Amino acid sequence: MPDPLEQFLIEYVDAVGGLADEIEPQVYDVLMPDAATPQRIAFDPDALPEHPSAQLLTFGSALLDELLARAQQRGQIGLAFLDDAHLQPHALAQRITRDLVLPEAITLRIENIRPLYVTHSVFWFEVTYLGEEKEQALFPLAIDRYYVRPVRYLNELLNGERLNDTRRWSFADAKALPPDQAYVAAREGIVRTVRAEINTRQHQTQTHLAEQTARMKKYYADLRAELDERIKKANARGDETESLRLRQDALNREEQLRLDDLGRKAKIRVQIKLVNLLHIKIPRLFIRTHVAAKPRSVPVIRPGSLTLTWDPFTEKTDALACPNCQRPTFELQVNHFGVLHCAECNPGKVKS
Ligand SMILES: [Zn+2]
Repeated sequence: MPDPLEQFLIEYVDAVGGLADEIEPQVYDVLMPDAATPQRIAFDPDALPEHPSAQLLTFGSALLDELLARAQQRGQIGLAFLDDAHLQPHALAQRITRDLVLPEAITLRIENIRPLYVTHSVFWFEVTYLGEEKEQALFPLAIDRYYVRPVRYLNELLNGERLNDTRRWSFADAKALPPDQAYVAAREGIVRTVRAEINTRQHQTQTHLAEQTARMKKYYADLRAELDERIKKANARGDETESLRLRQDALNREEQLRLDDLGRKAKIRVQIKLVNLLHIKIPRLFIRTHVAAKPRSVPVIRPGSLTLTWDPFTEKTDALACPNCQRPTFELQVNHFGVLHCAECNPGKVKS
């Protein structure tokens, strides 16, 4: 199996348009596009005596840190297509009626179906917890920018095997939430996740803090008791007690300082930073339907048309946006004014 660092160097140099020439096993001459002369890089420390000008590329080396930082910089924002999908599902109308729960009184008629690319944005947030010790974690979060909903299934597809850097189809993009607003939505999502994590950590830290505080108070109480005893004895002997009293004051101050310090360390601070962003365009079938009332039910249905979407990757109808309150739903109802709504809202009731 090739050395992962060697693999990384070869792929990185290729991606930036440089050249890597293996002059002997584990020793390369690398010419970066922005450099005038090649740089000799060795993976094997034993090769260094023979190649004194070579830089060693190992885990923890400054050279690796630099290459990783540059590689990450390059990949900060990317665009990819995930479009090796089958766009003509069999019996789509039946599948839609199976996925959705619609009121008895209405009929849906498909007027047209067209594929559009839906833009998804995957935000990678680096979260740093600063407490007793520093810890970092990376959270990816994907947002469907047509519906403005988080999507979970993308994480499995991010290994890159199915992502392409060019589009396969010529159809247009669906309307998408602007990137800055998508960022705000993603950030709210990550803050919710991180808040739950902090509560757990804060609880552990508080328990730990209570134990440490109790231990420290006991320690100082013992010291004070010992000092009191000495003062008592000194008094009995008629010796001076001034220095012992000063020692008592110093002890009290020291205890307070150390307790404050414990309290400060037990507070967790969090930093959230966006490190990478990948926009992925994925085809979706947009299905425009005409909604009509069945005979002898409600007179007119509003709205008279609904746009549904079918996801060829999950092979499911997406939750539709409730025509009345915009919340995602799989079930529509109709009130006696003929207004379509979800189970969460009822326009007939709201107005009364
Ligand atoms: Zn609703």
